[in-house]
Amino acid sequence: MQTSSLNDEVIQHVRNFHGHMCPGIAIGLRAAELALREIGPHSEAQEVVAVVETDMCAVDAIRHQSAAAPGAGASQNSSEYSL
Ligand SMILES: [Zn+2]
Repeated sequence: MQTSSLNDEVIQHVRNFHGHMCPGIAIGLRAAELALREIGPHSEAQEVVAVVETDMCAVDAIRHQSAAAPGAGASQNSSEYSL
C-alpha cells in the first residue's frame, strides 16, 4: 500500500492558495495526488492538462498541485465550454 505524499507544508500552501481549508481542498488534494501518481514521472517540458467539470473548491487544489494555472492553457473548466 502506497502512502500519501501530502504533508503539512503542502497542505498549508494549498490552504493559502485557496484562502481557507474546506472539504473541497481535501478532495482536490487527494484527486491531484492520485492523478499525478497515475501519470507517473514526467519532465517539466511535458504539459499536464487538468480538465475539471466543476468550479468547486477542489479545483484550486488540483490547480496548485498540477501547476495548471488558468490563462496558461494548462487547465480548463469544461463547464465553461458546455452547450
Ligand atoms: Zn473552499
